[in-house]
Amino acid sequence: MNDAVRMNLAEVHATATELLLAQGFNDIHAEAIANTVTAAERDECRHHGLFRIPFYVNALKAGQASPDAEPTLTTLAPGVIRVDAHNGFSPLALERGDEPLAKLAQQNGVAVLAVNNALNVAALWPEVERLAERGLVAFAFVSAAPYVAPAGGTKPLFGTNPMAFAWPRLDAPPLVFDQASSASARGEIQIRMRDGKSLPEGWAIGPNGKSTTDPKTALAGAQLPFGGFKGSSIALMVELLAGPLVGDALSFEAGERDKAKTGAPCGGELIIAIDPARCVPGGDRKAQLAHGELLFTKILEQEGTRLPSDRRYEARKRTVKDGVFVPRSLYEDLQTFRAGKQIKKLNDYEGDSLIHEQALKSLAS
Ligand code: NDP
Repeated sequence: MNDAVRMNLAEVHATATELLLAQGFNDIHAEAIANTVTAAERDECRHHGLFRIPFYVNALKAGQASPDAEPTLTTLAPGVIRVDAHNGFSPLALERGDEPLAKLAQQNGVAVLAVNNALNVAALWPEVERLAERGLVAFAFVSAAPYVAPAGGTKPLFGTNPMAFAWPRLDAPPLVFDQASSASARGEIQIRMRDGKSLPEGWAIGPNGKSTTDPKTALAGAQLPFGGFKGSSIALMVELLAGPLVGDALSFEAGERDKAKTGAPCGGELIIAIDPARCVPGGDRKAQLAHGELLFTKILEQEGTRLPSDRRYEARKRTVKDGVFVPRSLYEDLQTFRAGKQIKKLNDYEGDSLIHEQALKSLAS
């Protein structure tokens, strides 16, 4: 692969950490963000890997993200805890809430973690996967900036609002799905605009409310939820769970707060953890998980199926051994920047080119 550079995961982590420290994040935030970025590269979820470093830095330089906020943990009710990120990025807040949430779920059967005032530009699978590794069933919900019109509407209101679910397995890593509630990721539309490609029908509408296959018109208009009103209801649910339920912003409010349009909205996240053994009389976790395995077996008996998260685990096996391929343009700019020099050119990487360009300008300033 001539247009890509191979890096091992230690190099990915070191590069991310050095860049974040050089830009002013304190060591615990830099470490937590670098862990998140490295996990994304490891699982070949590249839109949340090194590609995101400029987003983190851009929000810091715009004065929207705290470089050193210490998250505070409080207990709100016997089964409800809260981590206030105080305008820091979410990875550290999630690290702080992880263990107390798991312990509470094991004690009570079910527990809820409300994360507040956190900037979130990451995937959700790491937090639910970690809980399922401890034998818990887990859900996570995050709202974002307003990009998606409600079903039948024409104006952006919902975020791309992902939700994630994890289920522990007997002799395998947890089953996890983590999906946006929009028909496509925003970055997908921007990639197609960059590449001069049209969109499939059903992804977006233009400012006139009519369906469009033109990426530029789509970005000026609104994305659509997946599956019509059904996806719209899921986006609505995520708004309520990650916003009013935990006392935090709706996507459109987070969008208003993001004055510098950094693409790093600040808001809430809801995580729910359930101990399966506390959900049946006598608590036979092994039997419950074996019952779940039966479903997975039946799914996989059908040709053409796979389980969600299988792709990530396959990637993980490969990348832990062989490293990852980072687009050369991204690698070179990060190295230039790492050496303390200005980035001379603004590249489109493999994703969110518009926001990325803005972010790189900020990195170079
Ligand atoms: P995808 O559509 O790529 O994947 C969604 C889920 O479906 C994944 O769990 C994936 O598993 C699974 N999947 C894909 N194909 C199959 C298949 N053939 N059979 C079974 N399962 C399958 O993700 P999205 O584009 O919806 O979201 C991408 C990421 O962006 C998520 O991690 C999300 O959290 C994040 N995001 C974050 C936002 C934020 O504000 N922080 C906003 C919006 C999205 P696998 O991983 O194994 O492919």
